[in-house]
Order: sequence, then C-alpha cells, then structure tokens
Amino acid sequence: MTQDTQEVAPRFDELGLDELSLASVADVGYETPSPIQAEFIPVALTGEDVIGQARTGTGKTAAFTLPTLEKIDENAEYVQTIVLAPTRELSEQVAKEVEKLALKRPVRVVTVVGGRPMGPQIQGLQKGAQIVVGTPGRVIDMINRRHLDLSRVSTVILDEADRMLDIGFRPDIEKILRRCPTERQTLLLSATLPPPVEKLAQRYMRSPKMVDLSDDNVVTESVEQFFTTVDGDRKLRLLVHLLQDQRPQQCIVFVRTKRGAEKLFNQFKRRLTNVELIHGDLPQRKRDRVMKKFRSGEVRLLFATDVVGRGIDISSISHIVNFDIPEYQDDYVHRVGRTGRLSSDEKGRAYTFVTREQGDQLTSIEMRINKMLHEYLVPGFEAARPVAAAKHVDQANEEKSWTVDDFDDSLEVATA
Ligand code: AMP
Repeated sequence: MTQDTQEVAPRFDELGLDELSLASVADVGYETPSPIQAEFIPVALTGEDVIGQARTGTGKTAAFTLPTLEKIDENAEYVQTIVLAPTRELSEQVAKEVEKLALKRPVRVVTVVGGRPMGPQIQGLQKGAQIVVGTPGRVIDMINRRHLDLSRVSTVILDEADRMLDIGFRPDIEKILRRCPTERQTLLLSATLPPPVEKLAQRYMRSPKMVDLSDDNVVTESVEQFFTTVDGDRKLRLLVHLLQDQRPQQCIVFVRTKRGAEKLFNQFKRRLTNVELIHGDLPQRKRDRVMKKFRSGEVRLLFATDVVGRGIDISSISHIVNFDIPEYQDDYVHRVGRTGRLSSDEKGRAYTFVTREQGDQLTSIEMRINKMLHEYLVPGFEAARPVAAAKHVDQANEEKSWTVDDFDDSLEVATA
C-alpha cells in the first residue's frame, strides 16, 4: 500500500452501499465513514456473518444498520431483522439511529424493551414491523405471548454482546437465536471478545469474518484523559475545584453507587439549579425527563451510575469525571466514550479520581487503552497519606454525609 492510499479515508460511496443508503447518510450529515463503518459495511453487504469489535462512540450502529436496511423487503409485513441490545436505553438509541437512517425507506421499527408499557409495543408489532430492536428479556416475553414471530428473520444483530452476556442474558439470547431460521445473517458487535462471546459466536454464527477496531483509537485520540490522586474524603473538594477550573459546558460525574450518586447530587442541588441525577432505580419516565433536559443543555451537571453509562445517547459532552474509578475497564471506555466526538475537532476531557490504593486499577485501565493518563495536578491534592491511613479515611467517609461546608462559595461561578 502506498502512503497515499494509507492516508486517504474511504468515502461512503466506495463501500458498496446503494443510492438510498448514500442519500440517507448525506441526509443525516455523516460526511466520511468512521473506521468501523469503512471496514464493517463492505463485509456485511456480502451477506456473511461478521463480528465487529468496536466500542460505543465509534459509529458501530450505523455500521450494522446500513447494510441491514438494504436487505429489508419493505412490502413484506413480517419481522426481518431482530437487534438485541443489553439495556433499554441502548435499544432506544439503536432504534432511533435505525429510524434516522431508514428515513428514505418505508420500513417500520418497533422497540421492545422492559420497563415500558407492553400495549404500544404489542400494537407496533401487530401493525407489522420489519425491524425489532429490544432487550432479550422482553423479546422472549413477546415471543411467548405470541406477539413476535421470528421465523422469517433474515438478519440477527447482537449489539454489545459482551455486556449482554455479563448481565446474564445468555439463556435468553440462545432461546431467541433458536427461534430464528438457521439460514440467516448474524452480526455481532462487542467491545471485547472474552471466551463466552467467542463461544456464542462459534455456536450460532457461520464462519464469521472479523473486523477488529478494538485499538481504542477513537477514545484515545479524541479525548484528553487525566487522573488525580486523591484521598476519598477529599474527592468532593477536588470535584468543586475541577468544575471551577474547567468550567465545563456539560459534565457527567460517574459515581460507583446509587447512594453515592444521590448524596453528591443532593449536595450540589442545594446550590445549583442546573444539576440532575440519573441511576437505575429511577422510574423510566424520570430517566427520560432527565436525559431530555441534559440533551437540551438545560442540565449541565449530571450525576450518574454505570447502569445508565452505556445508554446515555450523547457523545459530545465536554467533560467526564470518574468520581469513583470504574470497577471494570470496559466501563471506563464507555464512560469516557461519552465525550468522544466524531464530527468535531475539539477534544473532550475525562478526569479520573484515584485513591492511593487504587493504583492497580489505574494501571489496568492504562493497559486496556494502551495509553498513560496524564496527571491533573492540583496543589494540595497529591495524596500524602500512607496506604493504611488512607483506607481508614475511605471507610470513615463511606459513613459520613457530605456537608455543605465542604463547598467553596464560588461553586456557582463554575457551572453558571
Ligand atoms: P455509535 O457508536 O453507533 O453509538 O455512534 C456514535 C455517534 O456517532 C452517534 O451519535 C451517531 O449518530 C454518530 N455517527 C455515526 N456515524 C457517523 C459518521 N460517519 N460521521 C459522523 N457521525 C457519525
């Protein structure tokens, strides 16, 4: 390959897509294919099974949607494509992207997810959807109630397969796959390929082609990533300092537990109006309302747990703060991916608070993304305590509530 061809990114019209697809892509404003799209689309268009190793924020949804839409027979009223995703937020996000890209085609998409009333989903299916997107549990439910028939499906898509298996959806996924014809195309997307995902692929896919975009280019190149060493009881102060220093346009603060997120939110709520909280225990309606306010820019500071981290369908947030270091390296990638911008030159920023005894976790994250995080140095925040003492403080901190006195008066200035 010459240097020239290496540097020139392919265009959408070089991937084998039909005119309608190209018109849709132009319509939604995608100028050039993302790397996963450039590699995945031509293979998927051949009808072969494909495993795409790619993360959120890489454009993976359009990568599997465009070739799939080209196969749909719009005049046939039965379900031809089933997309399985781990959460309702992700399912809804996928459905939205499918609808966006299907604008030029008269296809019907129905989302079938738990936590939503069944009635409209059943009605949607009865009207004759060609594409169904959903979480495995509700999909099974719909099959059992005979509202959903997968016997004529020609494309099965498993999105975030690693996450679905982590959650424990394996039996449901297998049941669903057994309801689909063996003569079909199966597309599997996954951030990682641990043995359970490989086993699933071996059993239910036919000589799948691999498209590996797992080198974290998107995340590492488009996000500036920092860490600060901080004792547990000083994280709040560090957060306030960071907000004042960075004055983020919009910021998500990820907290490990719902209780922790709530505590933190309550502290900020007393001083600021443009803050919100989102976690898995909140009713779906409330979650939707919060996300709407965040999307519109009305909310600038959002406290969140990982449960919703993957479902937040925004990828242009200026700042991410890992108030607690993520337990799983994949969650780090997903959290940070929320600030990975595809269509802008501006870089997002991600800050991770690390206590002294979490050095190993920081190292695993760095190994995972194959990159060292820069140290965000704040005077007075370098941890100086011995490990044992720091542990003790952390435990004490778990028990105590944040107090208003922990705040600096100028917090308002930071997010005003
Ligand atoms: P995904 O990885 O599928 O969650 O996509 C991340 C975001 O990138 C979504 O908001 C898409 O609408 C957007 N996107 C997908 N493909 C492109 C593209 N080729 N150019 C610009 N934005 C894109």
